[in-house]
Amino acid sequence: MIKKVFDLKFTGAMIPRYTFSQKNHKVVLFPGHGIGPEISQAVCDIFAAAKVPIDWEHHEIYTKPINEAGDLIKEESLNAVINYKWGLKGPFATPIGKGYRSLNVTMRKKLNLFANVRPCRSLAGVKTPYSNVDLVTIRENTEGEYSGLEHAVVPGVVENLKIISQPACENIARYAFEFARKNNRKKVVACHKAGVMKKGDGLFINTCKKISSEYPEIEYTEEQIDTVCMKLSKNPEVFDVMVMPNLYGDIVSDLCAGLIGGLGLTASGNISHTCAVYEAVHGTAPDIAGLNKANPTALLLSGVMMLKAMGLQKEGFAIEEAVIKTLSEGKFLTGDLGGKATTTDYTKAVIGHI
Ligand code: NAD
Repeated sequence: MIKKVFDLKFTGAMIPRYTFSQKNHKVVLFPGHGIGPEISQAVCDIFAAAKVPIDWEHHEIYTKPINEAGDLIKEESLNAVINYKWGLKGPFATPIGKGYRSLNVTMRKKLNLFANVRPCRSLAGVKTPYSNVDLVTIRENTEGEYSGLEHAVVPGVVENLKIISQPACENIARYAFEFARKNNRKKVVACHKAGVMKKGDGLFINTCKKISSEYPEIEYTEEQIDTVCMKLSKNPEVFDVMVMPNLYGDIVSDLCAGLIGGLGLTASGNISHTCAVYEAVHGTAPDIAGLNKANPTALLLSGVMMLKAMGLQKEGFAIEEAVIKTLSEGKFLTGDLGGKATTTDYTKAVIGHI
């Protein structure tokens, strides 16, 4: 029996807390800002309809610093992710100006979320130039150009340091090959610009090559990042698993989102050795926030990634199947996919297919 407890703390929307038995997985839910509470509500409703055995624990992400260090998230929220191992996060509004510490940096440091995983698969019913995309971007999430080390050398000259370390390369390379093995994927391509950044990207591909020898059943290749972009826009079906340093991954994964119909559909996971936080690729969509127009699919499929990682395959596949049926019928598409359905209409349609 599902007990519904409404929690009114978050910006406007009523997020139900569903309570099941003591044996359930606990998951930290960050509804976030903008469309975050609306799409989180949709995910909670669909998970409840699919009788997913998890208990949500709601935590807030703040829009203003909550302490002198400039944090936007409470230490206890990060500890909850460490304790329960699982988190699902709505988008958050990045504050403008000085005085706060980047939430991504805080989470990354405390939780060591070293891998960002973004699968992109063509979905029936979503009109795009391609119908055969099925690839995964695996992005190194902790260093590269996002090391945060930059300073003015002299006025008008800034040095921005790109850090590539062997341990981080080994972590991400091994994660990519393990992911390929577990998910029955056939190919891993290491994407780089070692022709120019001979030492940094050179270390990245040399490490990927070394790790590849432990996975003889998986085809390993290397490709310059600019060539990857050209091939992605021409023949995306040639790609399977792509592993790359931080900045390339940030850019290429949005390109891949475009190949399958846009941000409203693209899921992701931020993975450490001991815990994981799943989130939609998109932001807070301030232009449609509070209007019941948001597409909850990206957050929902991020939740499905989480369920499969937890071992809740039956529930994960049931929800994924319901999404595919709803999209392929085409009757209840949200505005970003050319339809007129509200978030609530779409959510009800997905629930109707469970
Ligand atoms: P955005 O992704 O919020 O919006 C870009 C466009 O896509 C908008 O037109 C929006 O309406 C549309 N869109 C996005 N998600 C949608 C959905 N689920 N359904 C329907 N339409 C959707 O990007 P932005 O406008 O550049 O950023 C807005 C805010 O979000 C900024 O504060 C930014 O820093 C933040 N942001 C947060 C994250 C995150 O938390 N992971 C990621 C990106 C941006």
